[in-house]
Amino acid sequence: MKIASRMENLSPSVTMAITALARELKAQGKDILSFSAGEPDFDTPEVIKQAAIQAIKDGHTKYTAVEGTIQTKKAIIKKLKTDHGLNYELDEIIVSNGAKHSLFNLFQCLIEEGDEVIIPAPYWVTYPEQVKFSDGVPVFIETDDSTEFKITAEQLKAAITPKTKVLLLNTPSNPTGSVYTKEELLSLAEVLKDTDILVFSDEMYEKIMYDGENFTAVASVSEDMFQRTVTINGISKAVAMTGWRYGYVASPNKALIKAMTKLQGQVTSNVNSITLEAAVAALDGSADADIETMRVEFEKRRNVAVESFNAINGISCVVPKGAFYLFVNIKEIGGDSMKFSADLLEKEGVAVVPGLAFGTEGYFRFSFATDLPTIEEGIRRIRKFVEENF
Ligand code: PLP
Repeated sequence: MKIASRMENLSPSVTMAITALARELKAQGKDILSFSAGEPDFDTPEVIKQAAIQAIKDGHTKYTAVEGTIQTKKAIIKKLKTDHGLNYELDEIIVSNGAKHSLFNLFQCLIEEGDEVIIPAPYWVTYPEQVKFSDGVPVFIETDDSTEFKITAEQLKAAITPKTKVLLLNTPSNPTGSVYTKEELLSLAEVLKDTDILVFSDEMYEKIMYDGENFTAVASVSEDMFQRTVTINGISKAVAMTGWRYGYVASPNKALIKAMTKLQGQVTSNVNSITLEAAVAALDGSADADIETMRVEFEKRRNVAVESFNAINGISCVVPKGAFYLFVNIKEIGGDSMKFSADLLEKEGVAVVPGLAFGTEGYFRFSFATDLPTIEEGIRRIRKFVEENF
């Protein structure tokens, strides 16, 4: 049997591989602390679980419309209106099995051979793989901590070619926690203004914002940006619903939504009917108090983690404005992120993800989506590791 050649260029997810390795070592009885997963340690809020139980009792157990029920799409439309003043119609929304699936469908429906997709680095590991799988070409814009890992208008201008089809933005960012301000987005919008480049805006972490700052949705900064932006979002991270599989896309481009619906109709059909019902409670405000409780806890952990890392000689990190990751700079102690991460796991039993996996050498990603005592112990071990080895 020969596996199809299209699979040869698809790399497995490094974050998932490290998380699986950490889990395996733990199962063997080793003392492992894992900071590799992009998954909240919190349980799904009770109000959402109850909505799911009710959905089963009410018989929401059949196929639904491929693109999601009217009720779930109305909840998304209301959320986008309430949070960002954005106006979408029912046929401008499609729900898929997680935002990862939404992105896959998007690339498949829009990218043709040789089309370029601009991806700021460091990036979420999945983006370039999905672009390549759709025969597209990822074009990276390198950033570092001196600009809080954000691209500038000049960098964007320089990266655009006649083949550029999409600019991908992820705010707040995985793996850096950077958040674009309205002014920064407007300066990028200015560069795009006379082009037909689309913006894919992955806003998965929008509810996890710190320091009392407000999140600016990319589609909300101007009418021009509204027209060219495809918003990707979901409930996995902010509402602790990673296992439920629910992501969505909003775009005023009805033909795009129609194409995605056609594709999904031949691949997965609808999202789990019970999840579709439960998601309404995640989007309509019923779980807002729970979402805020988790956000406050994340902020406490962020503060402790940033302070502790910055107190270690030879490493440093910028303060993330959102999401639940630190992108820790190890350039002063050699910067070899693969070796650093492998040795750290072997010697101290601490799992982090090398920066190289996100396209940027000289850093590692530390997820603080775990309890405070574990974070404190993990950073204590990292301090010991750095002090003993560099
Ligand atoms: N987008 C970003 C930036 C993420 O970090 C993740 C998950 O790690 C996703 C999308 C995918 O989320 P979902 O669980 O909805 O597929």
